[in-house]
Amino acid sequence: MPEKINVQEIFAKNVFTIGKMKEYLNEDVFNEVMRLRDEGGVLPLKTANAVANAMKDWAVANGATHYTHWFQPLTGVTAEKHDAFIKHPDAEGRCLLEFSGKELVKGESDASSFPSGGLRATFEARGYTAWDMTSPAFLKEDAIGTILCIPTAFCSYKGEALDTKTPLLRSMEAINNQALRLLKLFGNTSSKKVTPSVGPEQEYFLVDREKYLKREDLIFAGRTLFGAPAPKGQEKDDHYYGTIRERIGAYMNDLNVELWKLGVTAKTQHNEVAPAQHELAPIYETANVAMDHNQLVMEVMKKVASRHGLACLLHEKPFAGVNGSGKHDNWSLNTDDGINLLDPGDSPDENMQFLMVLSCIIKAVDKHADLIRQSAANVGNDQRMGGNEAPPCIISVFLGEQLEDVVNQIIEFGEANSHIEGGTFKTGVSALPDFEIDATDRNRTSPFAFTGNKFEFRSVGSSDSIGSANITLNTIVAEAFSDACDIIENSDDKTAAIHKVITDNFTKHQRIIFSGDGYSEAWRVEAERRGLPNLKSMVDTVGTLVDEKTVALFEKFGIFTKAELESRAEILYETYAKSTNIEAATMIEMASKQIIPAVATYAGELAYTINEMAKAGITGVVQIGRLSDINRELTEMDSALAKLKTLRNEALSISSEKEKAFFYRDKVVPAMEALRNPADELEMLVDKKIWPLPTYADLMFEV
Ligand code: ADP
Ligand code: MG
Repeated sequence: MPEKINVQEIFAKNVFTIGKMKEYLNEDVFNEVMRLRDEGGVLPLKTANAVANAMKDWAVANGATHYTHWFQPLTGVTAEKHDAFIKHPDAEGRCLLEFSGKELVKGESDASSFPSGGLRATFEARGYTAWDMTSPAFLKEDAIGTILCIPTAFCSYKGEALDTKTPLLRSMEAINNQALRLLKLFGNTSSKKVTPSVGPEQEYFLVDREKYLKREDLIFAGRTLFGAPAPKGQEKDDHYYGTIRERIGAYMNDLNVELWKLGVTAKTQHNEVAPAQHELAPIYETANVAMDHNQLVMEVMKKVASRHGLACLLHEKPFAGVNGSGKHDNWSLNTDDGINLLDPGDSPDENMQFLMVLSCIIKAVDKHADLIRQSAANVGNDQRMGGNEAPPCIISVFLGEQLEDVVNQIIEFGEANSHIEGGTFKTGVSALPDFEIDATDRNRTSPFAFTGNKFEFRSVGSSDSIGSANITLNTIVAEAFSDACDIIENSDDKTAAIHKVITDNFTKHQRIIFSGDGYSEAWRVEAERRGLPNLKSMVDTVGTLVDEKTVALFEKFGIFTKAELESRAEILYETYAKSTNIEAATMIEMASKQIIPAVATYAGELAYTINEMAKAGITGVVQIGRLSDINRELTEMDSALAKLKTLRNEALSISSEKEKAFFYRDKVVPAMEALRNPADELEMLVDKKIWPLPTYADLMFEV
């Protein structure tokens, strides 16, 4: 049995929480830090020195030897460079420890080694990391020792964002400003701040580490590139919420403890739909902290797995034919005085404000459906989206029956000039019905679903950062709020204007609302008729980032400049090409060095048997049939291999990143599939003993 765990004792043990800051700082400094944290502004050096010193004292008391500016460059993972606290020894050879305010607030690193999509070519290579005061510092403990990690934003010398944190913080400011503007129009003068809250549910697979190490595709690509289906998949629905096996339970237990120490609110754990698939959901937090924590969740998941002789697969589609993994991004807007703008409320006034917020979100999602789709695009998600129980590539909004009915009434009866009479909509909606937070009529097929008091964006990939999705959500909704405020602020009859904006938003953007089966072919046809975009692969989405509508959106709110967007587009094309190239190379290697040689040897043995049998005067009918099938598939595999090699070489010679990415998608990916098909057939034809790779059954059912 595992040791008894005292959650309260270990929770946030390794975090420099506000409580600890209070303990380690004098009152004036503490108050100043809190004010700057809430209101923004420059931290005076004296204050920074005091905070740095306090952080160091706390960290050293807890065994830390180094500190690092922890940041999130556009590689999808986090980056860190450790510096010891030690100072030049004094005259007597004593080593003193130091951490200055300057070191806390700003770090310098070579930006040219991180993806910058051309920004580095035009500007200096130097990059800076700047402390994100709103996300707490923490200690990472592992074999390397204990490291004080300071969450930071990463920018170029000229201030261009080179990470996911900088634009996320900018988008949070934008939505704060516009939401406060909107709230004022509803008579709210008490709320001082509006922040997006995010709860990302994280899906993952666990496989045995020994078996994992026997598969180069898992090692290099994070997914299986070959593999025939196991006799059993997920058809019996017996894994979802199933009893958690001991080995997995021990893993989850350890994972929770590690996460709680880091202040991550790991809350829910269960088995997912596919065999060997699981999920962890934290309690929602402010968007930037949620993003930092989700990065930690992914990192700790992998680390703890290796301790348990397991490997954690965060890829969106580790196994063909069963569910892939996503990261449901639950999103809502909350004021500092406890109002959730996505809560329908129970008085007509609250309802009206809710309907305004809802109508703006509908408008935002419809206007920028392509951009939202883009925000969830990554290489792995191309394998998952549109597949087994994964959201379709078409973005639509699910509201649920009750709410959709209200929207339909507003559209049908709410004339542009209609107004509220005695707190009642002319439509007859006096107050919204009570919504069940745990709505029973959930629609799992919708990519963007209203779930009682939040929206759940389900397209995000399991290995992806939630940065892009939340930057996009915050900004497009800020834009819709801003449009609404422009109209209402400039009208004489504010109530009528509010009603008109709501009606217009719903009427003009109704096409994005869809409650039916998002997986069906009928929806694909219907969505096309409605003019909704259907961007099928990552490379199809990238252009959206630099189109006029997107540039105008992000520039208006100071989130991205055109140059920053162009750099991001370039990085995405580059990432797609590089990742696919690695996959192709891995397949070539596995086919040439493992599968073909093993099958060829087996075929030789069969041929020998057939000859020996013939000598004995017997025709080996079964053996001959088998050998001829094997020979057919082997020949097909060999020619598919040659073709893939040629196309890969051709791809490598293309210089434009965009052209290269499309070439990989259009030519190399189909060639990879053509190589996989005969290999998977062969796996079913030869003796299991000679197959050089652990099979799907070995990986998913023998964990
Ligand atoms: P589900 O039914 O989808 O599992 P849960 O209530 O378990 O929904 O929540 C899933 C995630 O959504 C959790 O991370 C939870 O903290 C988060 N969540 C709940 N309420 C909100 C909210 N108002 N805003 C943002 N996230 C939320
Ligand atoms: Mg959910």
